[in-house]
Amino acid sequence: MIPRDGACKSLWQTDARSYSPVNRLNRRKIYDVAIVGGGITGVSTALLLQQAGKSCILMESNTLCFGSTGGTTAHLSNLPDTPYSTLSARFGKEAARLVRQSAEQAIGLIRRNIRKYDIHCGFENADAVIFSQNPSQDNQLEAWKAGCLEAGLDSGWVDQSPVPMDFTRALLVKGQGKFHPVKYVQGIARAFEKIGGTIVQRCRVQEFRMGDPLRIETSHGFLESRYLVFATHIPPGCSGYEPPCAAYRSYAVALRIPEDRYFPELVYDMEDPYHYYRCQWVKGKRYLIAGGADHRTGQVEDTRDCFRMLEDHIRQLFPVKEITHRWSSQYFKPEDGLPYIGALQGKEGKVFVATGYGGDGMVYSGVASLLIRKLIRKEKTALTGLFSPNRFQSRKVFSNRAGENGGPSRGVQEIQHPEELAPGEGRVGLYDKRSLAQFRDQKGNLIMMDSACRHQQCQITWNPAEKSWDCPCHGSRYSTTGKLLNGPADQDLILLDLHPALPQSR
Ligand SMILES: Cc1cc2nc3c(=O)[nH]c(=O)nc-3n(C[C@H](O)[C@H](O)[C@H](O)COP(=O)(O)OP(=O)(O)OC[C@H]3O[C@@H](n4cnc5c(N)ncnc54)[C@H](O)[C@@H]3O)c2cc1C
Repeated sequence: MIPRDGACKSLWQTDARSYSPVNRLNRRKIYDVAIVGGGITGVSTALLLQQAGKSCILMESNTLCFGSTGGTTAHLSNLPDTPYSTLSARFGKEAARLVRQSAEQAIGLIRRNIRKYDIHCGFENADAVIFSQNPSQDNQLEAWKAGCLEAGLDSGWVDQSPVPMDFTRALLVKGQGKFHPVKYVQGIARAFEKIGGTIVQRCRVQEFRMGDPLRIETSHGFLESRYLVFATHIPPGCSGYEPPCAAYRSYAVALRIPEDRYFPELVYDMEDPYHYYRCQWVKGKRYLIAGGADHRTGQVEDTRDCFRMLEDHIRQLFPVKEITHRWSSQYFKPEDGLPYIGALQGKEGKVFVATGYGGDGMVYSGVASLLIRKLIRKEKTALTGLFSPNRFQSRKVFSNRAGENGGPSRGVQEIQHPEELAPGEGRVGLYDKRSLAQFRDQKGNLIMMDSACRHQQCQITWNPAEKSWDCPCHGSRYSTTGKLLNGPADQDLILLDLHPALPQSR
């Protein structure tokens, strides 16, 4: 099983072994490109650049697929969360067409890699079905269809939905796919290493200094590289250059249902947040994977309720034999509906970022890898401006940035009895005029941390489902003992030694 950034186990995680790199870091070498982050974005970009003759090194602070790629649901869809009709209204018809084209190229890239490198990742082509359930959703779906047509994507009404739910209209769109994301990423990682690429796991990139070459500080010492790509969502240590994204969590369950109830399509409803469904073969067994119940990171009182809601919803639709996996993961929603892919401003065209994919990262990661390869090779492309991470600085259309990234929604209570905390539980509270994050481990030890996030000092909150500390401002996350799980923070929580003021055992 591979590790992931939470306590819950994803279907992919339990069906994969940790990746063991073969090639070794050469500290005396100046690499052409250093890539930070071993999810689908980092590994896809590394492979494409190595294929293009660049010498690449990829650094991952944990092991490959520790982040969202290990917790995704891996619909490969050319229907972005922000529909083509909205993209067309915001950015123009040509922009919507470019997004559609680049999504198709990204799916094509995945298909080619799977064929070329013979990757056994259960890939299957699929159609997508989206269904509406009331007049307002019918209107939206009409607009979706018109947007698809304008963007050059064929779609048609159908009178059946694979998910047994009352619906008023159902739209079918061809050209999608589904796969096992961890097996795919490990497959392209092997291909990357075979052609000379280097992967270093458990290596955190801490900061970099501009120059030629760039000097990159890591937990394994420093190294030099001509270009740097952050495939880490928000780049760590780049305060002031962070593209405006809001961190969200989405919930997924894998379950077994009667054999005749599995279906081949990718299916979506139009609720807000929407539910998504699809099936996958894993080790000779079929699973239904359903997702939804999304919310801003750190802004739900009890995250276990999200699983309850999702499970109740699924049980109304399917005769569930067994829920085998429950997990949640993180995605970053861009301010204007398009991802941020490209060179960071003020970094001489040498430092790149790829983030803000919303729920479309399987496809936008491919878009990012193709675009970053072009940018590093100084090839011209119409996508540069469209996806520029710096566009928010020139465009003032979306003014609610502070609102999206607004601070914590929950008040902090006084801790009256610090010793009263059950094993496995955590809480944030005021004690002795100090704001603490407290966790009691299974041995009864009480671990205490300063509850200020290390990014911008927002108050973290306890996530009881994933057993993590989550920051409601920008989505940084920490383990029960304060170890950094997700950026943009780049340091662990501060541990406090309040003994003997607080009793250690219950
Ligand atoms: C529940 C859920 C379901 C989803 N379903 C879909 C779907 O069906 N289809 C779809 O297209 N998208 C989906 N998404 C979105 C998609 O999963 C993500 O956008 C995608 O996995 C992001 O990949 P990534 O490589 O950019 O990031 P990640 O997979 O998160 O990889 C980033 C990596 O960077 C590492 N890292 C961070 N900081 C550092 C550092 N300083 N030094 C070294 N390494 C570092 C992390 O450990 C991590 O492994 C879903 C998201 C969620 C949450």
